[in-house]
Amino acid sequence: MIIGLDDTDSVDGMCTTYIGTLIVEAIRDLDRNIIREPPKLLRLNPNNPYKTRGNGAVSIRITETSGPKILEKIKSVSFDIVTKYSESGDNTNPAIVFLEDNSITPEIQLFAKRALHEMFSIDEAISLLNKIGADYNFIGNGRGLIGALASCALQLEDFTYELIVYRSHNKRGKKFVSEQGAMEIEKKYSPKIFSSYDFENQRMIISPHSDCPILYGLRGESPELILEAAKMIESEIPFKRNLFVTNQGTDMHLEEKSIEEVLPYSSVIVKGTVSKNPYTVPGGHVFFEISNGKKILCAAYEPTKGFRNIVRNLSEGDEITAYGGVLETEHGLTINLEKIEITKLAEFHKTEKPICPVCNNQMKSIGKEKGYRCKKCHTKNREVSIIPLPRDIKIGIYEVPMCAKRHLSKPLLRYGREKKFEEERFKFDYTKFDMKFEGI
Ligand code: ATP
Repeated sequence: MIIGLDDTDSVDGMCTTYIGTLIVEAIRDLDRNIIREPPKLLRLNPNNPYKTRGNGAVSIRITETSGPKILEKIKSVSFDIVTKYSESGDNTNPAIVFLEDNSITPEIQLFAKRALHEMFSIDEAISLLNKIGADYNFIGNGRGLIGALASCALQLEDFTYELIVYRSHNKRGKKFVSEQGAMEIEKKYSPKIFSSYDFENQRMIISPHSDCPILYGLRGESPELILEAAKMIESEIPFKRNLFVTNQGTDMHLEEKSIEEVLPYSSVIVKGTVSKNPYTVPGGHVFFEISNGKKILCAAYEPTKGFRNIVRNLSEGDEITAYGGVLETEHGLTINLEKIEITKLAEFHKTEKPICPVCNNQMKSIGKEKGYRCKKCHTKNREVSIIPLPRDIKIGIYEVPMCAKRHLSKPLLRYGREKKFEEERFKFDYTKFDMKFEGI
């Protein structure tokens, strides 16, 4: 059986991974060996207007040997936790689903995959859940069912880990996590542990500013390394911790499209030629347009900081590939850039009087359309010199800084480090992982 949950938090607090952690703990209290692999923290469509923060949903796999009685107990304990700890509010619609492994049909898998690229209605999720006879429960309007269902069925290829360390949900207000540890981890463990400290913008990334119970999260390729690195963090006394398998840092949300296929709420990789030079609008956002016959706007918004300076150096005629999420704005469909690859730079030239091949002096004009002559040796030349103008940008791939990166965006430093989930899923023995905090 797989348990999926979503939409348990609000901007004022709580976090679906925290509730997932309480559920894992409660199930382990019933039988320590019932959960053999880390729960999954799956980021769904990052352009979802209903999201609270990072559009994350959580799923927990229960081993099949557990018998019907204990499964019923797990269901009731889990729903009780969702009911007790979820935030309440207009935009919080907590949901929990229980899916049998054999009910995850190709149709459900497709729904999960599409939940990263499209928007679904609540009814679509409910009718699929009813079709497969899944058990589910929700509070509010049922929107959480979309993410809860998708999180159970999403098939991972590449994946990463996140160790999340929590304070108690009862504790609110300013968190203490020292920046020093994050800096040291970035220096010592990057790229195997990524997104810890943004030196370019002097920002600690591991600790969210919101009033959620997450003290900090370390993201990387190996649980052992992350657990080792966590010892370097000095923080207020933590309450619990959990390890998640995630699709963060994998670019799972991006799909290759041509400009005419781009739809709102999708995240795309599109090729085009710059057809309108970059311009900066009040607020510091930079826009330019690309075209392949059909045009689309690309945006590097103010939070992308230094990335905007790269974008500002693009010129009409440059050939690029744009990576990013698409929203309908007042200016039409706009790609919120996460990365750009410049594949060909337009060439610009200036003309100058030619250089004498004998004396190396600049030649003088001898009259309109008559050409040029060297003052010293009288060598003649009819042609002007064509001098290429240097460009302030090079062919290559560029990404937004760490402080502006989406959870799903694959850092350039992760390229070539992709892992296969099915090959690695049982390498880490989750049954031995201690969630109670004992001073990591
Ligand atoms: P956090 O990351 O802090 O847990 P969040 O950003 O995940 O919060 P939620 O509070 O979970 O935000 O709200 C997102 C809502 O959008 C959920 O109800 C989820 O079911 C729904 N949802 C997720 N993906 C889609 C989608 N592709 N189409 C429609 N609804 C979606």
